[in-house]
Amino acid sequence: MKTKKQIYKEIKRKRIVGPIIFFILMMAVVGVGVYFSVKYFVSYTLDNKMTTEYENAENMAEIYDAGGEGRDAFKLLDKFGRSFFVVDQSGKVVLQKGENTSGTEAKKVELKIFDSEEYATVYTDTELNVLDVDKDNKLTLNYKKFAKYLESEEYESKHIHVRIGDEDLEIENLEEEYDDYVDIPIWISFSVKNGQETLFVQGMLHISEKDLLAFVIIVITITVIALITMVLLLTRAIAGIHRQKKTINFFFTDTVTGGRNWMYFILRGEQLLCRGKNKNSKYAVVSLDLKKYRNYCLCHSVAEGEKLLRNVHDLLSTEVDKKSELFAHGESSNFALILRCDDEDRLKMRLYELIRKLEKLDNDHRFNFQAGVSVLDIITNDKGRIVRRKSVNLDEEYNKALSARESLAESDESGVVIFGDKLVEEERWLDQVQEHQEKALNMEEFEVYYQPKYDPRSKELRGAEALIRWQSPELGFVSPGRFIPIFEKNGFITNIDHYMISHVAADQKRWMDDGLKCVPVSVNVSRAHFAEEDLAEQIRDMIDKAGTPHNLIEIELTESAFFDDKKAMVNTINKLKEYGFAVSMDDFGSGYSSLNSLKDMPLDVLKLDAEFFRGDESDGRGRIVVSEAIKLAQSLNMRTVAEGVEIKEQVDFLASEGCDMIQGYYFAKPMPKNDYRNRMETGRAVEATEDKKTEKPVNDGVDKTEEPVNDSANKTEEATDETVKDTE
Ligand code: C2E
Ligand code: CA
Ligand code: CA
Repeated sequence: MKTKKQIYKEIKRKRIVGPIIFFILMMAVVGVGVYFSVKYFVSYTLDNKMTTEYENAENMAEIYDAGGEGRDAFKLLDKFGRSFFVVDQSGKVVLQKGENTSGTEAKKVELKIFDSEEYATVYTDTELNVLDVDKDNKLTLNYKKFAKYLESEEYESKHIHVRIGDEDLEIENLEEEYDDYVDIPIWISFSVKNGQETLFVQGMLHISEKDLLAFVIIVITITVIALITMVLLLTRAIAGIHRQKKTINFFFTDTVTGGRNWMYFILRGEQLLCRGKNKNSKYAVVSLDLKKYRNYCLCHSVAEGEKLLRNVHDLLSTEVDKKSELFAHGESSNFALILRCDDEDRLKMRLYELIRKLEKLDNDHRFNFQAGVSVLDIITNDKGRIVRRKSVNLDEEYNKALSARESLAESDESGVVIFGDKLVEEERWLDQVQEHQEKALNMEEFEVYYQPKYDPRSKELRGAEALIRWQSPELGFVSPGRFIPIFEKNGFITNIDHYMISHVAADQKRWMDDGLKCVPVSVNVSRAHFAEEDLAEQIRDMIDKAGTPHNLIEIELTESAFFDDKKAMVNTINKLKEYGFAVSMDDFGSGYSSLNSLKDMPLDVLKLDAEFFRGDESDGRGRIVVSEAIKLAQSLNMRTVAEGVEIKEQVDFLASEGCDMIQGYYFAKPMPKNDYRNRMETGRAVEATEDKKTEKPVNDGVDKTEEPVNDSANKTEEATDETVKDTE
């Protein structure tokens, strides 16, 4: 599968690289074409001119050969009006007219005479040094020198500039007053007097007005064609780039806000973070979400919702630094941001500040926003020097920010969470629990513990609560506080409830058959379970299957469960009661007020939350509340159970207030079923020793560190005997 980066690169390459390569190629072709056609034309002209000159010079050589010596020879050759000189074999000049400008620096060429098999030995002129010999031993025109020559005095006035490659060729603007040719001197040598002497004759390559004109026209034509091609190609390339820019803009534009989109965030974000100049900055990847966006759309319209997102976008664009930070709209109501983060606390404050502004986007509404943050630290090498971030996986970083944000998901309130080890730990734990849950159930790794409930006055056993324990071979002993909330979220809790009910029913049945004096055992039923319409029937059937009398099972509902679907709840409670099960309200007094639920729900037992018995004992107000709650329950014909009672004063107080049962460490911790069986046999309360009484209460009312209770090792057990003896 293609990554985002690859898709982007493909789009970019298709539009820009193509035209540019095509342009460069075409320019190279045109350039090479111009160069070779000019070169060919020039050498053709030179060769052509050579022939005439050679013929004239050859005449002179023949005449000199046939003619006399010394002055006669001179007279004869002088008639031709050309410069010449004759040297003997030793190199001594024997005859000369005009200057010898072939000299020693002159280049020698064996030149093939046009249209013949003959070769002429030709020397370039060192004065008007415009001819060169190329690597094929051919005479070529040195454009640069030629242009310079044309520039000299007589041609000074009017020039045509022609540029070939990097060579500047200036040619006279050919008007009437201009001599109708340009002469380029060369020297041609002939062996004369049977090889005794050599005659050098100066020849002139007449480049006439016509030649020059043709030459200039060809150069200009080719140049113009080249220019037109260049312009055409260039406009094509520019249009391509323009189109490309548009495509990329489109590729990066969010259709809802009109701003940047997720692609932009990922691709440009990585560039931003990896930029060398940002290496000294800590950065944070932020996932920001507008809560209840879908609700807003439902109540108003999607168009209104999108308008709201645009407003969020607009506000963000004033808050985010364009040079060193960026943001984009993701899916739905999510925004992704990359912000500078020199200090985590300051960033948190900044985000809260931002959220405060966002909350007030609309006068008629108050919105809530949640942000999750993943911080990217500065990177150092082995020597401790700060180095550039080589690559950042923004998808991964955003995912961290997102999971930090999701830890807030249950609440609708605004908030900011920074991703950290704790969060990773939690996620890993969640993963492990979910991985093992199924097997744990099948392998019966869950154990039922019983926590007795005692009458505070008679100290007699009146009931018990069944509490789950997990002894996992892989995870060790796990307290319910660490897995029940997970199961409640993922729905596995319904299996747990079934498991507990059937196990408790079976235990009760066995104890009953063993002739023990059984008391009702309450089982927790999760709120998630109450969504099922036939819950009461399910419970009844399970208990009937074990053959347990219904009065030995009680169902505990937590207070928060009462908020879901009141009607369905009342219905289930009524059915349960009808089948003969007692129903209790768990955790009464914790969290939200439950007085209202008391009004509507026909419950049998009120369990006062452990929170009532935490905190300052000397506080009279707490006692008043407990006392009134008991009275209220009594008026409603409900029995009361006080949870989490740990000290004797509380037991005495509750006894005096008429509380029916006490479930707390003062009497007993949750214990394995065999220990509970012993308790049933004893029937009487096991009161705590002095050190037990002073043990610090656990704040959340849940004993997370609890070891499986072993009665024989439990001091409370020893105390019992004494208590029992005392009472006897
Ligand atoms: P809960 O139903 O409120 O259970 C009472 C909790 O208080 C138990 O914690 C118990 O060990 C603890 N406790 C009892 N007396 C004292 C005391 O004097 N001091 C202190 N500090 N704590 C005391 P546990 O067993 O850890 O259970 C925690 C919660 O997990 C339970 O709260 C209940 O909500 C849930 N839970 C436990 N077992 C089950 C189960 O089988 N099914 C369901 N659905 N939830 C369960
Ligand atoms: Ca409970
Ligand atoms: Ca409780």
